[in-house]
Amino acid sequence: MITCRELCELLIDFVSDELPEEQRERIKQHLGKCPPCVAYFESYQITIKLTRQLPCAPMPPQLVERLRAALEEIRKEKQ
Ligand SMILES: [Zn+2]
Repeated sequence: MITCRELCELLIDFVSDELPEEQRERIKQHLGKCPPCVAYFESYQITIKLTRQLPCAPMPPQLVERLRAALEEIRKEKQ
């Protein structure tokens, strides 16, 4: 069985459907036995849902500016 730590690392791929079936099964098994990870998984899904809905709603200009600045920062760090 995978550990809680491994589950956290795999969660993003699990949620975006990018894991092979075998690993998906291991995550499901872990979630069946570990309530704290279920709670984490649920809050994770809600966060992703909210993030995806964001572009559909009109954003205040200050927020757009801040997001743009934040993205610039990330881009600089990656180079
Ligand atoms: Zn766990």
